[in-house]
Amino acid sequence: MSDQTILIVDDTPYVRAAVKDAVLESGLFSNIIEAGDGAEALKLFLTNKVTFIITDVVMPVIDGYKLVAAIREMESGSDIPVIILTASKKGFSDKIKGLTLGASDYVTKPFDKGELIARTKVLLKMYGLQEELKAKNALLERIATTDELTGLSNRRHFFDTARTIVALAKRNDLSIACLMIDIDFFKKINDTYGHQAGDMVLKKVAELMLKNKREGELLARYGGEEFVMCLFKADEAVAFGAAERFRKRIEEMKIQLDESKAISVTISAGCSASAGDSLTDIDKLMAMADEALYLAKNNGRNRVETHSGKMPGSC
Ligand code: GH3
Ligand code: MG
Ligand code: MG
Repeated sequence: MSDQTILIVDDTPYVRAAVKDAVLESGLFSNIIEAGDGAEALKLFLTNKVTFIITDVVMPVIDGYKLVAAIREMESGSDIPVIILTASKKGFSDKIKGLTLGASDYVTKPFDKGELIARTKVLLKMYGLQEELKAKNALLERIATTDELTGLSNRRHFFDTARTIVALAKRNDLSIACLMIDIDFFKKINDTYGHQAGDMVLKKVAELMLKNKREGELLARYGGEEFVMCLFKADEAVAFGAAERFRKRIEEMKIQLDESKAISVTISAGCSASAGDSLTDIDKLMAMADEALYLAKNNGRNRVETHSGKMPGSC
């Protein structure tokens, strides 16, 4: 019995008690909560982590149909199993209405305990499989979008997201800026201290930038020891400020390779920006930032250059 909470809703106390009996006997749920009408049920749903619902249809205040419809509209209730208890004499119309509104299944009253529990088990199993699938999809999504070593977005995710950001900026006449960042003399770190030390440096640099970036700034590992950042609603001066912030903090950071050895590294960066309708695409912005980065390397490294050649005061 995992952490399962069932909500039983019925305005007739003896029906509620009978459902509770059956559920208790099944041992399928760790928590059982009860409500006498749909409104009370919704209140309980909002404050408890409900994983299963068995509900009557005809009830005062808010009936079972409205309850099912409201639960399905909430993100936390969009997938959970809901069984409606319907009166057998009413034929199929209320069952069809219940299923159409989002009930997972129905059981007619007076219900058979064995049938109710059997249907509950089937739904629990389906729900469990669905949750497993969701978790696997989330994991796949994470693997597909994340750089394994640093935990930053990977190149593909960067381009996917940046294209959306650029399109949004174009539609709203907003500026976009771009940063290309490259660790200086990184090959030397690998050659001197080994590849593992190089990996450690990449992780620490990424971690520091992630911590210091601001809202609306999309940071990714572009490849090797290169990082890229797209800044929404920002001009070259803002990008320059962000790059300078990274550069100074990275320069000051001590990276502990082992108990006795700590090293420091520096970065060089290039900035570019474009505004409103004249906005070029992300590839062009990155090419411009890359040209500025090339300049930063040639001008001595551990520095930031802009594509326009203007050097705003750092912040
Ligand atoms: P510069 O200042 O001009 O940028 O010189 P650099 O040495 O940083 O640049 P270069 O492009 O010559 O070398 C980059 C090195 O980064 C070469 C490559 O082996 C190493 N590298 C790429 N990816 C990884 C990685 O995931 N881990 C480690 N440890 N090294 C990597
Ligand atoms: Mg480098
Ligand atoms: Mg490089």
